Amino acid sequence: MALFVMKFGGSSVGDTERMQRVARRVVEKQDEGNQVVVVVSAMGDTTDDLIDQAKLLSKEPPLREMDMLMTTGEQISISLLSIAIHAEGRKAVSFTGWQAGFRTDKEHSRARITDIQPQRVQAALDEGNIVVVAGFQGISEDGEITTFGRGGSDTTAVALAAAISADYCEIYTDVDGIYSTDPRIVKNARKLQEISYDEMLELANLGAAVLHPRAVEYAKHNQVRLVVRSSFNHNEGTVVKEEAKMEQGVVVSGIAYDKNVARISILGVSHIPGVLAQVFGTLAEAKIDVDIIVQSGVQDGKADFSFTVALTDRERALQVINGIRSSLPFDEVTSEDGLVKVSIVGAGMVSHPGVAAKMFDVISKEDVNIKMVSTSEIKVSCVIEGTKLNEVVKALHTAYGLDTESQVFVGGPQDRR
Ligand code: ADP
Ligand code: ASP
Ligand code: MG
Repeated sequence: MALFVMKFGGSSVGDTERMQRVARRVVEKQDEGNQVVVVVSAMGDTTDDLIDQAKLLSKEPPLREMDMLMTTGEQISISLLSIAIHAEGRKAVSFTGWQAGFRTDKEHSRARITDIQPQRVQAALDEGNIVVVAGFQGISEDGEITTFGRGGSDTTAVALAAAISADYCEIYTDVDGIYSTDPRIVKNARKLQEISYDEMLELANLGAAVLHPRAVEYAKHNQVRLVVRSSFNHNEGTVVKEEAKMEQGVVVSGIAYDKNVARISILGVSHIPGVLAQVFGTLAEAKIDVDIIVQSGVQDGKADFSFTVALTDRERALQVINGIRSSLPFDEVTSEDGLVKVSIVGAGMVSHPGVAAKMFDVISKEDVNIKMVSTSEIKVSCVIEGTKLNEVVKALHTAYGLDTESQVFVGGPQDRR
């Protein structure tokens, strides 16, 4: 008997029929002689709809209340799925995040798991139940309901799999696995049989929505056997593991993009020691993550520099910078949106010079300016204007030899023609 954690995303439980299909799939797994824990997300676009409702009432709703609101989406899913499993004649019990033992820090909307106490989950499993757990939520030590950030149900699944020593963690979604890039943009993207934790972590951090970055961290740290596959068919998915086979001659294994990017520029700052420390220290205190930082030339003792933050953090970042104006004089602070960060990732890059140069060349041939660049051993990222994103991703995909003959169909069976 094996223990499985099966996670189903929003589109997989988007309506009653899909919910029933998930119930049958889960029962099928139990029929094969396994114990099953299911993690589910909110149905369809529920989370987005809840956010929209809050935004009708306030431009900046309190994060505590947003967590309270958003977690209801998953609570609907767990109860309905549990009801659907009962209707299939099986025992099931649903748990919210806190009931399943997820303890977190206090950071609303981006909480980190501090501990998991899965005794109730374990006891319910031992009593022969299929256990249904709400994704992306937990409770802080003050008893506050928290969420893990958008897409965080993957993290619930992987962290729970580690906590209960599950044999497998399967992430069921609306595509057949992990592809060389988002198959919604590139129809002849290549499905990967396997991918290393490190490459997947880069891709996830760089915007590939198919897995939440924290989920990949957990999987790597706890060596969780992780598979991404479709909830709409029984095709083999993609295995995420320590070391993945590298195809001969493939230097770039994936391309990711992130639209949640804004660039902030501080112009005319005195070029004295400690300036960067002050700016980025203050942003860090405000819990604003800064990504790429570029300082341009110094003129008349003054420098300009730019950095990127998540678009969703832009207003707060501007407030923070304006807040230190009295102690750090500068001429102007500006911000720019409509940008996107495109990245190429590949473990083979380290030993292949010219990979970045090729990227710059491909982007320039699309007549797109590169605004910022950052590199690591296994990735190159360029911030560009967002208008030609699809063309750039397609061109890079072709240039690095990733195109396949076959076409991917995404979005569930009704889209398969
Ligand atoms: P779920 O609701 O199941 O969690 P998500 O929308 O969060 O689903 O993630 C699946 C989506 O991720 C796919 O529909 C696809 O558009 C997107 N995606 C982005 N990059 C990739 C990639 N490299 N491989 C597969 N899917 C990707
Ligand atoms: N429902 C949440 C979201 O839409 C969590 C998730 O789906 O993973 O972000
Ligand atoms: Mg997701």
